[in-house]
Amino acid sequence: MENYYQPDMECAPYEQMRALQGERLAENVRHAYTIPYYKDLLDRNGVNPNDIRSVEDLGKLPFITKDDLKIAYPYGLLGVPLSEAVRIQSTSGTTGRRVVAFYTQADLDLWDECCARAIMAAGGTKDDVVQVSYGYGLFTGGPGLNGGSHKVGSLTLPMSSGNTERQIQFMIDLHSTILCCTPSYAAYLAESIEEAGLMDKISLKAGIFGAEAWSDEMRRDIEAKLHIKAYNIYGLTEISGPGVSSECSEQTGMHINEDHFLAEIIDPETGRQLPYGERGELVLSCITKKAFPLIRYRTRDICVLTRDKCSCGRTLVKMSRLMGRTDDMLIIRGVNVFPSQIETVIINCGFEANYQIIVDRVNYYDTLDVHIEMTPEMFSDEVRSVEAKEKMVVDRLRSMLGLTAKVTLVAPKSITRSEGKAVRIIDRRKI
Ligand code: ADP
Ligand code: ZN
Repeated sequence: MENYYQPDMECAPYEQMRALQGERLAENVRHAYTIPYYKDLLDRNGVNPNDIRSVEDLGKLPFITKDDLKIAYPYGLLGVPLSEAVRIQSTSGTTGRRVVAFYTQADLDLWDECCARAIMAAGGTKDDVVQVSYGYGLFTGGPGLNGGSHKVGSLTLPMSSGNTERQIQFMIDLHSTILCCTPSYAAYLAESIEEAGLMDKISLKAGIFGAEAWSDEMRRDIEAKLHIKAYNIYGLTEISGPGVSSECSEQTGMHINEDHFLAEIIDPETGRQLPYGERGELVLSCITKKAFPLIRYRTRDICVLTRDKCSCGRTLVKMSRLMGRTDDMLIIRGVNVFPSQIETVIINCGFEANYQIIVDRVNYYDTLDVHIEMTPEMFSDEVRSVEAKEKMVVDRLRSMLGLTAKVTLVAPKSITRSEGKAVRIIDRRKI
């Protein structure tokens, strides 16, 4: 089998990258056409796989969506004989629908290489101790970063999430230098280390955080608390897992491993391709993966792509921090609201990212309740000062969203902490 991994592609000139992408796309479209479900999809859309020769032809191909994955579950999109597949992973089911993805050994190796790039971009070397506190098992977070850390040659601590006391013990005893977990768990770990008075015993220098939405404000907060540099990492099970893209030291967006995943931004309403710099839905095409070769997969994730020169020397296209996902955008009284907007207001008002958004419908009228934990210092404040803080959040939310919310400050630690992805939105209208 061809070896698809070429480390120098991270800094390849644009033309060289485009040529390689074109070749790989053409090959993988022909490969996908061997899957009856895909053949039917292309035939229905009048696409002859032999007409796809370069990246410019991408727009001729139909999209594939999560609904297709549901219909084809479990084996309908398998691209190799079952005997060639060596692993499955499954989505965490944030939006209720499970997806199963397959990998050959070569697919797993490529995925590991992508995660290794993320660790190296965060300054990781074989001398580092990488504490992987993402969940292991069906969720892609743990296995992905675990494989990446092995490829780098770092000492890998396969902690999985949870058991916070043990996490901190190992972090201290084994001198972990790089922490990989969800940002909400990183914030929780930081809080717990602080409370135990152990911060001076921690040797962390970097964190690789992703799998859920987080704001730049939350990043600065975690960085200041843990005395680290925090890097964003993005991925999704359907396309492989974490490591589809990850940040470099510039921290101005995540470089997409576009020698393996072709990225486009489309208008989610019309499906039209949008130019660099415009915000829309990210569409990804796998051009090297064989067991689950999704092409033009609609991620539902909203972001912006840019191809500006990066000071790190990588030429890979960059995607911005996610601005939400089309399926977690809330429509409240007709207004589009992304939870990330609410988080930005909360952190700018001096709170931490411990909050819950509750949407309900009373007498045909949508209600928006935001519960925010006070910090321990605020907790001893007078009632009047608590009320003033609540009013400040209400005012700022109104000017950001054009909506009036009910804001309640709650006692420190009263919102359940998550060890995996945080549950921050409760939409009772759907229940
Ligand atoms: P799901 O959460 O849909 O059940 P996955 O576990 O595969 O499935 O998670 C993938 C999703 O997680 C992405 O589509 C994206 O919405 C979210 N995600 C992953 N990384 C990030 C990140 N760095 N920032 C924001 N959201 C992220
Ligand atoms: Zn860079």
